[in-house]
This record gives sequence, structure tokens and C-alpha cells, in this order.
Amino acid sequence: MPELPEVEVVRRGIAPYLEGHQVASVTIRNPNLRWPVPSDLGKTLGGLTIDKIARRGKYLLFDCGIGTLILHLGMSGSLRLLPDTAVTMPGKHDHADLTLDNGTVLRFKDPRRFGAILWTSVDALRHPLLAQLGPEPLTEAFNGYLLYQRTRNRSASIKEVLMNSRIVAGVGNIYANEALFQAGINPMRPAGGLELIKCEELAQAIKDILILAIEAGGSSLRDFVDTSGNPGYFQQQYWVYRQVARPCRKCGTTILQARQGQRSTFYCPQCQE
Ligand SMILES: [Zn+2]
Repeated sequence: MPELPEVEVVRRGIAPYLEGHQVASVTIRNPNLRWPVPSDLGKTLGGLTIDKIARRGKYLLFDCGIGTLILHLGMSGSLRLLPDTAVTMPGKHDHADLTLDNGTVLRFKDPRRFGAILWTSVDALRHPLLAQLGPEPLTEAFNGYLLYQRTRNRSASIKEVLMNSRIVAGVGNIYANEALFQAGINPMRPAGGLELIKCEELAQAIKDILILAIEAGGSSLRDFVDTSGNPGYFQQQYWVYRQVARPCRKCGTTILQARQGQRSTFYCPQCQE
């Protein structure tokens, strides 16, 4: 499932080819994504120039001046760019194409259809899907003190709180697990009991891990153009995520797995207290 770093890598991969270009046409083959794709999207977008592609949490925002195309990759979505010489027949899960004035096609593939393609003509950050998002983890607005303030009186586990996008945007299961390991915090600890110093260590760990993951994805940037695979979902080596029953790379203790709020948690009982 694409998390914040993957979405950021997608943004960096496609932006240079799309920004400053006009949309020539839109093809929607299957509008039944998480929410229906607007039926008049082609009319709305045709002739508009994509000024800038930004990211908020896991949403990609195509700023077209008079409005914004909001794109979410859901659980299995991916984007790739086909230069006009390489446009191929769409596959079964290629639900949408956005064709630019130079013939380049941005193709949206999403086998599980939990992704989204939406349009808003008002400030995208005030769209109902985005308005409630907490601060971006890689900005100064997110820091240990804020995490400390927002976790007071919360009895939910720190891991579940981290994955609440109202507390901090875009931290999903993989990076919540990894950040808690780096900060030496047991994922089951009640969030409200974390000391300020631990909140500061955790906020820093989140930033460090997301930056490392984005850098790891940098090597796959060229894969967004003219490929038939699933670009952007680079393989990384994790410390605890999906490492159950393996020895902890710091201390050798066996990594454990637990269930928290329908999601798998991985942790080292020795390094994380
Ligand atoms: Zn350990």
C-alpha cells in the first residue's frame, strides 16, 4: 500500500513531465473508484494547464488554476507516464488516462479500486477529505511538543494514535512501526503516558524514516516513464515491519507481532519499552 514516501516519490517522478502542460483529454474507463469519478471531468479539465503538482498527506493535488484535481492511490493504485510513442492498449485495471497537449499519457491503474480521482473548484486544502488532516510530518508544524500536546488524555495506544491522520498526516502502518522501533517505544503504550522527551524522539524518528524512504525511492524516479510495471513501490529493508520471528538487528531478540486496530504491529520486546 502506498504510504507518504511512495506518494511523494510518485509526485517527484511525474511532476517534471506534467507541470506547465495543458490537458488535451481525459478517458475514464471505470468511474467506480472509492468515490465515483465525476462524469464531466473531461469537460472540466480539457484545455486547462497543470500549474503545479503538490502533495498533502497521501493526496496528490494537481493545481489547474481554476480548481484542483485530487488523486489518491488507495491501496493498490499506481501512476505511470507513457510518451506519445509508447502509448499502449490499456489493461484491465487501467481505469483512467489523462492525455497532455504533447501526447504524453498519465495512466492510472488500480486493481482494488480504493483510489480516488476527484475535482474541486474551491481551495483543495478545504476539501472535506483534506480539511481534517493533521500537520505534514516533514514540516516544522509537526514536532515533539505538538505530539505531546495532542496525545494528552489519550488512552489509545501510541501506534494507533500515530496512524490517526488528524494527529499527523500520512503516517501509515509501515512507518508507524519503524518509527516506534527507532524511538524505542513499545507500540502498545498508551499515548497519553508518553513523556515529552519520548514524543520528541518519536517525532524526530518519523521525520528521519520518511526522509530516508523518500531518498530510497529516488532511484526509481525514471521508472515512472514508459514502464509496464508498478513503479514507485521501491523495496526497502525494514527493522521490524514484517520481520516477525527474525532476530532484531539491534539486539538479537526475536521480533514479535501483534494486532492493533485491525493492523499488524511488529516490535522488539527488548528495544521497545
Ligand atoms: Zn531489539
